Amino acid sequence: MEVLEDSNQQQDSIVVYECIRCGTRTTSEELKSLPELKCICGFRIFRKVRPPIAKRVKAV
Ligand SMILES: [Zn+2]
Repeated sequence: MEVLEDSNQQQDSIVVYECIRCGTRTTSEELKSLPELKCICGFRIFRKVRPPIAKRVKAV
C-alpha cells in the first residue's frame, strides 16, 4: 500500500479502506497515523471503498 502526501489534494485524498476479513473500515488518514498498516483484527489486506458520506458541493 502506498500513501502519497499531497497538500494540494487533501480534500479528495481521503480514502476509506475496508478490511476484507472483518469489515472494519479505516480511513487513509487513520492508516497514516498507525505504526503499520494493519487492521485491529491483525489482517493486512484492505479494499478501497467509497467514503460513507456523499458530499455534494455545487461547483462552477
Ligand atoms: Zn480486520
